[in-house]
Amino acid sequence: MTPPIATLPRAGADPARGPDPSGPTSPRDPRPGLSGLTPDELRAWLAVRGLAAYRARQVADAVWRGLARTPEDLRGLPRDLRAALAAAFRVDTIVETEVRLADGGRTAKVLHRLSDDRLVESVLMRYPARAGRRERDTLCISSQVGCAVGCPFCATGELGFGRDLETAEIVDQVRDAARRLAGEGRRLTNVVFMGMGEPLLNLDAVLAAIGALTDSARFGLGARHVTVSTSGVVPGMRRLTALGPQFTLAVSLHAARDPLRDVLVPLNRRWPVAEVVAAARDHARATGRRVSYEHVMIAGINDTERDAVALAELLRGDLAHVNLIPMNPVAHTPWLASDGPAVERFAARLRAAGIGVTVRRNRGQEIGAACGQLAAERAGEPPPAAVDRRRKRLVAESAAALRGERSPAAPGSAGEAG
Ligand code: SAH
Ligand code: SF4
Repeated sequence: MTPPIATLPRAGADPARGPDPSGPTSPRDPRPGLSGLTPDELRAWLAVRGLAAYRARQVADAVWRGLARTPEDLRGLPRDLRAALAAAFRVDTIVETEVRLADGGRTAKVLHRLSDDRLVESVLMRYPARAGRRERDTLCISSQVGCAVGCPFCATGELGFGRDLETAEIVDQVRDAARRLAGEGRRLTNVVFMGMGEPLLNLDAVLAAIGALTDSARFGLGARHVTVSTSGVVPGMRRLTALGPQFTLAVSLHAARDPLRDVLVPLNRRWPVAEVVAAARDHARATGRRVSYEHVMIAGINDTERDAVALAELLRGDLAHVNLIPMNPVAHTPWLASDGPAVERFAARLRAAGIGVTVRRNRGQEIGAACGQLAAERAGEPPPAAVDRRRKRLVAESAAALRGERSPAAPGSAGEAG
């Protein structure tokens, strides 16, 4: 029997990068996940074994409508086919799931353990019906174990990069939530790639996952109900634009000025603000779909009048919308969330410039809903000396950025190579 997640060993800590999600792990199960197969791949696998194509439909129904977890759940199939499928594939790539509820049960923070003991998170949020809008159940999912970008306000960034998720590991987070909702007679309405990882740095698997989620013969979500958030991987954004309007694009901007964005999103040293916004603008024009920008609000760092003016100037005349998100408290950063009046002043400044703004309320703070927080907690504390060095560096870099100076890239950071 596998131990419950809470008793898993803690990952080892690397003094330079903090806790490491690639800590002690088991070998990865070599069988691919069944839910990661396209209908063509499934038909080809069956054809090699001399099996009829209609079996592919039955398997897909068991995976996507029946939300199968085990070989026994592949109902309606002959016993030997079930056994052959189980030998070749994992019916579920998630070995174990732990759920914590918050917001009176309206937010479920979910920690998943994968076959190699690595942990990823998803968050299920229920939004009650409002005037003109039906009730929604939105799932925030992960695309990687950890993240290489290393934004210093993000719990996942603190973990560093573990590995890419395979397609089935991405969609099995959705099947898990759908299973839980089905128990209440509900259906998932929206999926957002805003969990752990940078989706555009694992783009092939993410695109295959979106293909499965939006295929009417598989999960069947509308393309408008899937959102991919990126920290600004420009070549990936251009690739998405070439594919056309298959989902909504969100860009994590957080600062309109390069010196500050270098600190908050280290990838900015490789693809600076102007290039990111140009790619988002081209995407909006080519697809006719509004791009939304995320702006995490950090007190005294990126929430000033000057930042609001710079952002309004940058987005002037664009088909854009800005989401302001008060920073969720994250261990080991020297910063605090902006207070309500600071967020309102910032929003008012943008609205005065004709830009649409939403202030996003943080959900499930008490259970650490900023994705990566549960996994970071589980990874254990990094050594105090490393935390101290990191805080001092961030204080110095953000102070330099406020003076308009660019700091050199930190060793080992995402911006270093560029
Ligand atoms: N890597 C992608 C998607 C995952 S992060 C990206 O950065 O866009 C999803 C969103 O959560 C991003 O907008 C990110 O900036 C935000 N986020 C990360 N840490 C946060 C925190 N501590 N408080 C509030 N939002 C946070
Ligand atoms: Fe990675 Fe996004 Fe977190 Fe930045 S905010 S470290 S890109 S997951």
